[in-house]
Amino acid sequence: MDGYHMKVVVIGAGMSGAAAAKLLHGRGALVYIMDGKDESGLPYARELPLPQERRLFGAEMTLSSVPGPPPDLVVLSPGVPPHLKVVQEALNQEIRVWSEVELALGELMEEEGEDADDSKNGGHRATVIGVTGSNGKTTTASLLGAVAAMTGKSSVVAGNIGRALTSLIEEYEYIVAELSSFQLAFLDKLRIPIAVLLNITPDHLDWHGSFEAYVAAKARIFKNQRPEDVCVINWECPVCREISETVSSRRVFFSSGTLLFEGWGLEQGWIVRRRDGKSRRVVETQALSLKGVHNWENVMAALAVAEELGLSEEEMSRVVTAFEPVKHRQEVVGTFDGILYINDSKATNPDSAIKAMGSYENPIVLLAGGRNKGLDMMGFMKVAKERARCVVVYGEAAAEMQRAGEGVGVPRIVERKGFAEAVAAAIEEACPGDVVLLSPGCTSWDGFKNYEERGECFKELVRAHYDVK
Ligand code: ADP
Repeated sequence: MDGYHMKVVVIGAGMSGAAAAKLLHGRGALVYIMDGKDESGLPYARELPLPQERRLFGAEMTLSSVPGPPPDLVVLSPGVPPHLKVVQEALNQEIRVWSEVELALGELMEEEGEDADDSKNGGHRATVIGVTGSNGKTTTASLLGAVAAMTGKSSVVAGNIGRALTSLIEEYEYIVAELSSFQLAFLDKLRIPIAVLLNITPDHLDWHGSFEAYVAAKARIFKNQRPEDVCVINWECPVCREISETVSSRRVFFSSGTLLFEGWGLEQGWIVRRRDGKSRRVVETQALSLKGVHNWENVMAALAVAEELGLSEEEMSRVVTAFEPVKHRQEVVGTFDGILYINDSKATNPDSAIKAMGSYENPIVLLAGGRNKGLDMMGFMKVAKERARCVVVYGEAAAEMQRAGEGVGVPRIVERKGFAEAVAAAIEEACPGDVVLLSPGCTSWDGFKNYEERGECFKELVRAHYDVK
């Protein structure tokens, strides 16, 4: 793309929005940037080389505040909900709406379009490996980062993971992009040649409006794939399997419950490559630091991609067994007085917490609560009844969870208002041999800035209790 000679409005002036505005400005666009916050709360926007009249901050966002004719393009920062007034205005006026990821990756892949074959040998083109799913994106994207690094070619992990895609320089062979449903909702022309769909369970319904809209957003990861591209899909997820019927690329399935004729599977404690109905053992699950079937699904997805990138089975095994869980995702805090403490603060929806509970054989004292984002807690508590000896509920969702827990017959429920009190109660409830699992099934926003802060707080409280550093 030699430039954006057009009028563009960037919505959201955080790290990603500011990076998008900078890129567009550098490429010749007439850029306006908007945010509901005042400039004082927007550190990334301060450094933008844009004149004052094109910084529309601190007021309700609307296209009518943009002077002159309507823009040609509206670029959304990740996390900007589609029901926002300004987004609806753009859609109603049939203005093209892109997410930041479309802009960033579109740049990198643009020249491939007409001259696909030439570009393979000629100028540098990055291959994008996109990962989406309701749960497991960060873990799998990090695994894929390790896989891509193992090829010896230059690679980077970016996207939802906390690094603005637009800020990347164009020098990578592989870009692993963790793609949220927010980023995919407005995917337009972007082609993702290697696309992974891990699972789809209800999440972010407040943002998307309905489960159908959420599913449709996830499915867009495959939208512009070509027959020579590949998609890696979870066979055990019915919604994913349904989506697989509509893709035009080559399909590679992985399954934790079925031994497929072709694909990846789990058999007698091994991750196996299935070919022509036969198994080849690749990695023993016991050798993995990642615990639980859900994590082995992430590993299978990563191995499927590893094979596409040409790694040998020995390399595949080496890379995934060396991999340690990402912070706040079933992270081991330590074993104190014979009690294993696990920080799974990132489990902000019931499904991920259910999966975490399924990863341990020992009795569980579950710490759950926070702010419910409109999800059903009944199923969560049904599993807790089977797996947890005791559930300590806290925060805004405590009463709702307690009701659900009592309704399904959880053996013991303890309610505490504050997080610190809840952690203390969990420590008190636990006996040697137990697992104390912080896997809240809710967001942290009722008491913390984010799940990281909640996870750090948990670790500190546990360590302080045992007087360890
Ligand atoms: P995401 O980036 O999609 O939120 P993470 O890798 O950060 O995913 O994991 C989020 C939570 O989901 C953690 O609690 C983790 O233990 C759990 N989890 C990880 N992989 C899966 C999976 N494949 N299915 C269900 N839950 C998962």
